[in-house]
Amino acid sequence: MRMLRLSIGIFFVLLLSQRCYLLQANEIEKSKILYFTHEPGTYHRYTPQLAIFRQLAKRAGWELTVMTGDHESQIKKLHAPDYGKQFDAIVYNFCFAGSRDTEAAANLIAQTRENGVPALLIHCAMHSWWPTFKSGTPGSLGPDYQGKGKADAKLVTEWRLTHDERPFPVWGDFTGVASTTHGPSQPITMHRVGEHAATSRFPKKFLTGNTELYNNLYTLDEVVPLIRGVQGNETAIVMWACPQGKAEVIGLTVGHDVNDWTQKPYQDLLVDSVNYLAAKYRTPPADRSAERSDSQR
Ligand SMILES: [Zn+2]
Repeated sequence: MRMLRLSIGIFFVLLLSQRCYLLQANEIEKSKILYFTHEPGTYHRYTPQLAIFRQLAKRAGWELTVMTGDHESQIKKLHAPDYGKQFDAIVYNFCFAGSRDTEAAANLIAQTRENGVPALLIHCAMHSWWPTFKSGTPGSLGPDYQGKGKADAKLVTEWRLTHDERPFPVWGDFTGVASTTHGPSQPITMHRVGEHAATSRFPKKFLTGNTELYNNLYTLDEVVPLIRGVQGNETAIVMWACPQGKAEVIGLTVGHDVNDWTQKPYQDLLVDSVNYLAAKYRTPPADRSAERSDSQR
């Protein structure tokens, strides 16, 4: 009888440990993805784009968190310290071209450079915070600045007064390829360059529907081009990877029109980019449980 009780005991212990193992395995497999957008969008139809992304996330098996709201309230949400820290990757699909909110830009950049959370930047995300790199005066960032961004002198002065040595957020230096304008709404021929996990299912050559080709104002040396786009006589890098501090960004400038988002090769780019970034920079489960018990203390 005692033997029987002992065997039953051992059986339940094994069953429980098996269950814990399965729970852990599930936790390991599910990527935590943050999708950050604003609705409805002025030049872009962000609501149907979000609906498509939700479907892709479901199919990919991600644990998806969506942060959305109107244009201004979304910029304010970017002030929250460590808003991205708990995620394996963040997808930014917004259009904050005229924003002078350097605090929001700097905190977004810190999620990747300092917190090590990689980011996928889509289309108009590149055309954001123009006063930090496009529309300012050359030399406004001081003699120590080696980049090509032209920041608004007044913004730089305001930043220096309150942030001492903390670097001014030059948005084009974060996206890797800085862009400031686009061509007409016409098809782009996309040419895959080299081999990369984020483009592994993308054909060597793909013709889009009517959409916008973003120019390349300047490109950081560390940028790895993944896809080139050709529209009429214009050529530009339309997808790339770029290391940023503790992690990395992928930029994808195609995606203006919902029509882009309904194309299977485009959807594969989104899914494969997120999976690549999340797997490469995922916080090891051991560190996560340590973080959790830290926060419970
Ligand atoms: Zn656009």
